[in-house]
Amino acid sequence: MTNLDRAPETGIRVIIIGTGFAGLTAAIECHRKGHSVLVLESFTELKVLGDVISFGPNSVRIFHGWPGMQERLDPICHETNEIQIRTWEGELILNQSWKEKERSWGRNYNGHRGQIHQVVFDYAVEIGIDIRLGHRVVDYFETETKAGVVANRQTFIGDVVLAADGVRSKGRTIVLGYEDKPKASGYAVYRAWFDVGKMAEDPDFDFLFEKQDDLCIWIGQDIHFIAATPKSGKEFSWVCTHKDDGDVEESWSANAPLSDARKNLEGWDPVIHKILDLTPDPVIDWKLVYRDPLPTWISPKRRIALIGDAAHPFLPTSIQGASQSMEDGVTIAVCLRKAGKDGVQEALRVFEALRYERVKGSQKTGETTRDRWHKADWDEVRKNPRSMELQREEWILNFDAEDYAEESYSETLTSLGKQESAVTFADIPKSVDVSVLA
Ligand SMILES: Cc1cc2nc3c(=O)[nH]c(=O)nc-3n(C[C@H](O)[C@H](O)[C@H](O)COP(=O)(O)OP(=O)(O)OC[C@H]3O[C@@H](n4cnc5c(N)ncnc54)[C@H](O)[C@@H]3O)c2cc1C
Repeated sequence: MTNLDRAPETGIRVIIIGTGFAGLTAAIECHRKGHSVLVLESFTELKVLGDVISFGPNSVRIFHGWPGMQERLDPICHETNEIQIRTWEGELILNQSWKEKERSWGRNYNGHRGQIHQVVFDYAVEIGIDIRLGHRVVDYFETETKAGVVANRQTFIGDVVLAADGVRSKGRTIVLGYEDKPKASGYAVYRAWFDVGKMAEDPDFDFLFEKQDDLCIWIGQDIHFIAATPKSGKEFSWVCTHKDDGDVEESWSANAPLSDARKNLEGWDPVIHKILDLTPDPVIDWKLVYRDPLPTWISPKRRIALIGDAAHPFLPTSIQGASQSMEDGVTIAVCLRKAGKDGVQEALRVFEALRYERVKGSQKTGETTRDRWHKADWDEVRKNPRSMELQREEWILNFDAEDYAEESYSETLTSLGKQESAVTFADIPKSVDVSVLA
């Protein structure tokens, strides 16, 4: 049994939609801060889905704050401290290492998304969080004093709702007052993760395996390919971001034949084609969804907040999507505790103010890196190889979201000024059976 210290109860009833890293972190942290938590998730069962995912020191410190979590994650996660950057033809441009510089910022984790997710999900269940699978939320509503959702023809009502329902968020409609459909970003990512087999014995792959757990990135015009040797070189993973005009409705389980990847990578370094020869066919082809930055993440009556990808999807080149979604969860839990049951609306305003600019800034690093890589002028790059470095900013990575929220809450509230009254009204839907109060 996990021994998580819990603050005295606040009486705040928090309903969280979604059990991704945003939803689970918010659930664990809200529970820790003494709020009562109910989580609704549309999946009917937990499946080990996805492949490689990264957590920076700013989110690993959140995992490590949960007693027993480090012991569970260390065996399935690894640390990446160096990347090789190559041209699409294989010429080595740069070895970038951050081991020394970032030592004092804390550890980073890379691992299999499905395996890490399973561990965090099990932990939340063990500490007693009420998670209900098979509950697809179809509607959100709020009044001045309450907020709730409808799922499985039941209404769930609490003091606050956190919509952690990912890039295709349904919670966005009530927050924005209109339906905000996801757009295709123009890119998709082929993804593969497989057992390394005899690969490590092939001398052509020595440069990939001699520094296990690190990354090698090949870059071409509007496309890049990243290979990793996770779990100390026992497994192999690659992702390839490429141009795509596909349908954004497709999901994590959308496949593409390996021949599609081969076509996109025609003429590239022969080592890449050897990797493709060893890759199980088909591969995942994950459409990268884009959203214009939202004007706000909180609803008109300030009882519903979007968190994680629902509020702010990230490009993979930022390597911060999961970490920022976890910071959201930590921050909202602190804000609710500071504000108390009568101050939920104030808590949501401060939450947004504490997070908005930081998130926008981290999103921007992903765009900058992608553009530098995809539009590289190699003659110029050879004169200044460091221009291709992955952006790793101290203000993003060396950061404690909990301390920041604790220290900045009062000042932020003061600077926001007196709370204005809400301007629009969303009625509780009348066409459903009202059967459960959280
Ligand atoms: C199945 C899956 C696999 C992924 N694999 C990878 C990967 O390999 N690498 C990587 O970098 N990122 C991956 N991601 C994305 C990554 O986890 C997120 O970008 C990041 O962690 C932010 O998480 P989030 O909690 O905001 O959103 P998400 O992780 O997308 O979680 C949203 C959750 O909300 C649930 N949900 C959505 N709508 C409803 C509804 N109406 N009612 C109830 N529940 C709802 C979803 O089922 C999901 O569990 C994956 C996401 C998913 C869902």
